[in-house]
Amino acid sequence: MTDTENTLFERAKKTIPGGVNSPVRAFKGVGGTPIFFEQALGSKLTDNQGKEYIDYVLSWGPMILGHGAEVIRQAVHQQVDKSMSFGAPTELEVEMAEKVCQLYPSIEKVRMVNSGTEATMSAIRLARGFTGRDLLVKFEGCYHGHADSLLIKAGSGALTLGVPTSPGVPASVAAHTITLEYNNAEDVKLCFAELGDKIAAVIVEPVAGNMNCIPPADGFLETLRECCTQAGSVLIFDEVMCGFRVALGGAQERYNVKADLTTLGKVIGGGMPVGAFGGRADIMDCLAPDGPVYQAGTLSGNPVAMAAGLAALNEISKAGTHQQLEEKTNQLTTGLRQLAKKHGIGLVTNQVGSMFGVFFTEQASVGSFKEVQACDSERFNRFFHGMLEQGVYLAPSSFEAGFLSLAHSDEDIEKTLTAADAVLGELSIS
Ligand code: PMP
Repeated sequence: MTDTENTLFERAKKTIPGGVNSPVRAFKGVGGTPIFFEQALGSKLTDNQGKEYIDYVLSWGPMILGHGAEVIRQAVHQQVDKSMSFGAPTELEVEMAEKVCQLYPSIEKVRMVNSGTEATMSAIRLARGFTGRDLLVKFEGCYHGHADSLLIKAGSGALTLGVPTSPGVPASVAAHTITLEYNNAEDVKLCFAELGDKIAAVIVEPVAGNMNCIPPADGFLETLRECCTQAGSVLIFDEVMCGFRVALGGAQERYNVKADLTTLGKVIGGGMPVGAFGGRADIMDCLAPDGPVYQAGTLSGNPVAMAAGLAALNEISKAGTHQQLEEKTNQLTTGLRQLAKKHGIGLVTNQVGSMFGVFFTEQASVGSFKEVQACDSERFNRFFHGMLEQGVYLAPSSFEAGFLSLAHSDEDIEKTLTAADAVLGELSIS
């Protein structure tokens, strides 16, 4: 018998800050004690007490095939037997670059890194180096990792913890970041009219997944494209979360808007620590060793990670994958709305492909950060814990999107809806 969650968390806190290696894992937003997991297979997680959960977090997105997919495990095992790291070029990296460029027509050249944070941080440095400008425009509620210039009113963990900006980020760095309202095209136009010739880059989640799930409003991404083109600024789509997920070619395929630079992560590593940034060749060629903008990484393009990522990308490239994922997700969100109606509970769902969001609110729709903030997070927390009790693992924060995988069966969705029926029933009387 292993330690219970409580005792293990107490033990963890003695040697790990807050007991966790990434803040949102600590359940601060939803209350209670984090679960310590031991195994993951298909759509299920097993905790250290042997309890099983249907998983809608999927390691925050990467597990599009479900956990422990055979093709990925085989690819990893084969590569581990050859080498775990060379720190020198491999054919696998070339194959990966070719695959990414094929799936994302706006990406002519791509460089691999080890996390989403590294991808966005590097893309921003490159955009600044390319344009010779300093200003960065980002949007409230979007999260792009924890680099200094991005921790300005960040969403996700920072929001749930009630820390809109982080100590440790110099005011002089923050001064170069402008934060606008997501989905507000007029704000963007005004900003460009005022400061266009100083703006190095606009970074945006084309489908926001860090203030729960918020799709782009009609015309929003197009406005960003037009403003950046006119001002000579670099448009960066942060597709770390939605890349390869909302469509095989990500948000750019789904909404038919091309970015100058794209940041990728999660799915591209098939569960291994991988990120990437890529885009127009004239911009990417500014990177060292050919250009003056410095960026590097000892483990970048790591062969085991590349093998895992390539196996994942090849598998999800099969026809019908994204349609299947979307249909399953639709089954879940439709079911949840019907149950909420049955129990007289105000609930809105958003969905883009296999990304989804659940909002407890009387609002007719939720399409902006303000509308997300106006939702009943206390009710979400009770829903979260009720579902957990019933063996359904949702993201432990009302500011995070949920995900489905190919491994989620009709039976999983039925079980989830049966659980939701019971929990929403309890919420309606308390
Ligand atoms: N960008 C987006 C859109 C993300 O969702 C995340 C992480 N969830 C990041 C960047 C940062 O990625 P990482 O946690 O791998 O550093």
